[in-house]
Amino acid sequence: MMLERGLDFVSMPKIELHAHLTGSISRQCLHEIWEVKKAAGKTDLEDPLLVMPPGRHDYDLKTFFPLFSSYIYNLVNDAGSLEHSTKSVIRDFARDGVVYLELRTTPRAMPLAGLDKAGYVGAVLRAIEDAQEEAPMLHTRLILSIDRRNTLDEAGEVVALAKLFRDRGVVAVDLCGDPTKGDVSLFTPVLEEAKAAGLKTTIHFAEAEASASEAELSTIMSWMPDRLGHVIHVPETVKRQIAELSGIGLELCLSCNVHAKMIVGSFEAHHFGEWWRVDGPIVVPCTDDVGVFGSPLSNEWRLIQKHFNLQREEILGLARKGIDVIFAGDDERERLRGVMW
Ligand SMILES: [Zn+2]
Repeated sequence: MMLERGLDFVSMPKIELHAHLTGSISRQCLHEIWEVKKAAGKTDLEDPLLVMPPGRHDYDLKTFFPLFSSYIYNLVNDAGSLEHSTKSVIRDFARDGVVYLELRTTPRAMPLAGLDKAGYVGAVLRAIEDAQEEAPMLHTRLILSIDRRNTLDEAGEVVALAKLFRDRGVVAVDLCGDPTKGDVSLFTPVLEEAKAAGLKTTIHFAEAEASASEAELSTIMSWMPDRLGHVIHVPETVKRQIAELSGIGLELCLSCNVHAKMIVGSFEAHHFGEWWRVDGPIVVPCTDDVGVFGSPLSNEWRLIQKHFNLQREEILGLARKGIDVIFAGDDERERLRGVMW
């Protein structure tokens, strides 16, 4: 039917629930930050447009994490560049028709800039508040991430920060980072603490084979997270377990998984096709790292329509279902029910 082809995915009001702040920064924005620092003699780094040439989106697990640890984190390393890039990320999502956004970030101390982890979170929240005034249609909340390489103390600090900044828009705790690193069972007490404090939880789940052992998946399932990210290397038994969980959110990231070769095959082989019709869990298409993989949320929906042949009403219905698994409160859900098609 011609009508389906005509769906304008940029204008369609959308919800984004899995977007890492630093990975969502556009190359143009990184370039702007670099230009200012270069002119002031404050960086020896190469131009981001050379390090990450426009059009290059084939970062895999081996090249992705070093890009951050050895480059982007050294460029975005003070309150000014952090706030500038956060606002730029939110502006990009607003332009793409996103009406509700949950950004996530791992609190980083920036000692040379005099910023501790609380200062980092405060700066991000300040930028979110400014961006909110600029683009009132887009409401943003923040998720604080525990890194798989964290010690128990560091993870506890993330939860403490999430509690501290709750009344300024921190809604949840995430567990992320290099899937080949760390033992997630270490984090059980802090995840329990987060839940006891009324924070929501979302966990990177079976993102790579290395993070999909039976032990790891059963530990994570025992935490009863509110949402799971990626959900790639999942054995049938665990799939059945997830399918029975009514209202659990599944944050699926098509372009990221295809470009990073985290799945076998291309878009049509993505497990979105397997999950979107399943009754209990609620599938929410997300970008993960639009700055790296180059596919904005409107394009993720376009890919879904193209590769899985969803009809207009199926797309709009699926987009609206996402409202049920956002981490903001009832007022925000009410607003989104009014705003979304
Ligand atoms: Zn992620």
